Amino acid sequence: MEEDVNLRKKAELSLGGGIKLPKGFVMPYRLSRSTAGPGAGSSSAVFSFGKYRVKKGVSYDSGEFELHDEGGVLSLTRSGLPFLSGVDIKPVVYHCPEQAFFNLDQRCMYNCAFCASPRLDRNVTKGLTPESIVKMVKDAMDTKKVGSVSLTSGVVDSVDETVKRMTDTVHALRGEFPDIPIGVEPYVSSDSHILALKEAGADEIKMNLEAATDDIFKRVCPELDRDGIFRLLSSAVGIFGRGRVTSNMIFGLGETDDELKDAVERLCEMEVIPTLRALRYNAYNGESLKAAIGDVPKVTPDRALSVARMLKACLERHDLDSRECHTMCIECTCCDLVPFRDV
Ligand code: SF4
Ligand code: SF4
Repeated sequence: MEEDVNLRKKAELSLGGGIKLPKGFVMPYRLSRSTAGPGAGSSSAVFSFGKYRVKKGVSYDSGEFELHDEGGVLSLTRSGLPFLSGVDIKPVVYHCPEQAFFNLDQRCMYNCAFCASPRLDRNVTKGLTPESIVKMVKDAMDTKKVGSVSLTSGVVDSVDETVKRMTDTVHALRGEFPDIPIGVEPYVSSDSHILALKEAGADEIKMNLEAATDDIFKRVCPELDRDGIFRLLSSAVGIFGRGRVTSNMIFGLGETDDELKDAVERLCEMEVIPTLRALRYNAYNGESLKAAIGDVPKVTPDRALSVARMLKACLERHDLDSRECHTMCIECTCCDLVPFRDV
């Protein structure tokens, strides 16, 4: 019962606004400055309660939620009312807890309406090389648990060059860390890209379908090829194996529950593990989303919970289990209600 209450709190917290820190509060760990994911562009920290964790933007000035520190015991209020007790702050390795997740380049030649990465004003990913990433992971291992390494990237100059850079980075990481799970989240355009990443040493691959229907996809990712993504996902299962390929869809873009379920079903039939992310609006994507999809109601905690349960039921029907994935967002769990781990 306690767990259900906290699950709802996770839904509410992760879909809600930022967290205001008490005046003078010193964060126990350095803040994460994300360049991808819902928190892109903000300074954020990971808050845990029970088995759940949520990454939230923090500020000393304002926030829908407010952190309270009573002699080291942390709790949250929401709009002045008690919200959550027994809160802890978790260290971030790079971008997520217990995982080193690098965005190789936040720039992107595409313009997906929901994506903040290419719209960030400051290029904080500049200068990352395979060597510097290996060194950063090694250094992190001296002081923290690093359970896996993951790589994502915007598409800069060309898909070929971007995949080559990711492949080189995987190769360098695998040479140094023979046993660590490595996950990659590339935009690929051919089977040879997928094969190169696998041969370099990647264990899991995430290739995002982004939207539940063709029509919404065309509006939010006008330059990407949805049929191509389906075809390449099928190749990726052949190359990486069943349950080693994941694909994210954003919900809350105007799709119906049935349309979302149909897309989830289609991915599961292909032996791909779908991940579902609630659309979040931020300072970078509001205008582009309005132009692409108009005014669409925000995802509610109720819908997020029912979507997560639908996803879990579908995975169960197809004998797929997200607990067998050990990299990227499924392992992190900070932004979604993840079947089998949260729900
Ligand atoms: S391909 Fe689309 S979602 Fe991916 S980084 Fe580029 S703009 Fe963002
Ligand atoms: S769930 Fe994914 S996007 Fe969110 S903090 Fe973790 S790795 Fe980043």
